[in-house]
Amino acid sequence: MTETYNFNFDNTYKSLPKQFFERLRPDHVPDPKIVSINYKLAEEIGLNLTTATQQKLSRVFSGNDLPDGSAPLSQAYAGHQFGYFSMLGDGRAHLLGEHITPNGIRLDIQLKGSGRTPYSRSGDGRAALGPMIREYLISEAMHNLGIPTTRSLAIITTGEWVRRETLLPGAILTRIASSHIRVGTFEFAANLKDIDLLKSLLDYTIERHYPEVFDYPNRAVGLIEKIMQKQADLIVHWMRVGFIHGVMNTDNMALSGETIDYGPCAFMDNYDPNTFFSSIDRGGRYSYMNQPLIAQWNLARLIEALLPMIDNNEDNAVKLGEKLIDKFSDIYKQKWLSMMRSKLGLHGDQAEDQMLIKDLLDWMHNNDADFTNTFRDLSNDKKPTEKIYKISSFQTWYKKWMVRLQKNNVSWDTSLTMMRNNNPLIIPRNHQVERVINSATQGNLKCFRDFLEVLENPYKADGKSKPYQMPPEPRERVYQTFCGT
Ligand code: AMP
Ligand code: MG
Repeated sequence: MTETYNFNFDNTYKSLPKQFFERLRPDHVPDPKIVSINYKLAEEIGLNLTTATQQKLSRVFSGNDLPDGSAPLSQAYAGHQFGYFSMLGDGRAHLLGEHITPNGIRLDIQLKGSGRTPYSRSGDGRAALGPMIREYLISEAMHNLGIPTTRSLAIITTGEWVRRETLLPGAILTRIASSHIRVGTFEFAANLKDIDLLKSLLDYTIERHYPEVFDYPNRAVGLIEKIMQKQADLIVHWMRVGFIHGVMNTDNMALSGETIDYGPCAFMDNYDPNTFFSSIDRGGRYSYMNQPLIAQWNLARLIEALLPMIDNNEDNAVKLGEKLIDKFSDIYKQKWLSMMRSKLGLHGDQAEDQMLIKDLLDWMHNNDADFTNTFRDLSNDKKPTEKIYKISSFQTWYKKWMVRLQKNNVSWDTSLTMMRNNNPLIIPRNHQVERVINSATQGNLKCFRDFLEVLENPYKADGKSKPYQMPPEPRERVYQTFCGT
């Protein structure tokens, strides 16, 4: 009898016009071995993996065995990468299918690193273990921080070596996502200049993610408005925890509003709005502070792709599109302000709030203060006393903050709770991430498991969390991260 693992596939993506995908199986791999299975996530989404042997699971999550109901395919998409347009597609990923959870939620189950596809261009279709560990660790951390994200269900090693700068162990990650529809998927459809393709993708996306939009007089505008809200929410979350995505290309922006594609992403230690880590981001295009601007730029590309669906008359469509994109700055700013208020325990809306927030951020920047720890130190019952807070500029700011807190119409306890729920204690700091990846690629998975466990409760301290709260020592600091795909 074949095991079903409770996979419950209902594959709708293949009902789109054939240009949107290629049906093909993942490549066979010689010696799949489990590195990690996310049993908790499996249970959450209604899969039963606990009774299967590791060997069987390694065959499923390598793509060697296809679960019943799976109809694998690779998706076509395009993208603006660092500002330049290319036709792309899943160059090393296979969608196994859409799994329906017991609660009726539709989730893509995708293997990444599972072999070449017609979209591979010069790539080998493979992934190395290090970057897959990075994606697993950080995506799960993001989820626990309360940030919309794709999730990681499993990592296996393939038994093959992949050639990067050196030979590295090959791996496959199983990624769970609300969908893999990207800004770049619409750019792909628009580039083929076939209005029917665009229309079918528009209807599919609305049905899958924003069904309420079906009744809108202008569906394309309705969809864009919803996506703008979702993206603004997402970027505000990133800014809240100091997350820098690193490759905000339009092919890496999911229309579901989930964080997707953890390449050279990293968290900021000391606050500097110009921080970026990615080795391929020479000009800092995707720096911390640029993220909202880039989100807007990417949304403008989405609107451009959708112009023929916005209005039959091109001039009218362009005018409407410009009006839409202009709204993003305000939408973002309001959401950002409200998030920053929650980080500082500010209730209500006072004229001085913006200045108070700006002054603190400037102070942090000028004094190399740790972003995460500063906000967390402010979320204690008493005034912080560490050396850095003795500086008079901080004392002045602190007094102003105290005055502002008096204007709250809620108790101090309520404010504290709000702050503690929005200011994490533990983020996956780069130096820890690198340490864990190094040990894991050498076969020692204990650090990886320990770190994952601590990252399960990022807003709560316990005996184990202390070392992970420490900023890096100067010799531990990570200045650059690599896609190292
Ligand atoms: P990413 O930077 O991971 O978002 O990837 C950008 C594009 O390159 C996507 O179309 C990927 O599928 C493709 N790609 C990345 N790495 C590889 C690889 N090793 N082999 C084939 N395609 C790849
Ligand atoms: Mg990508």
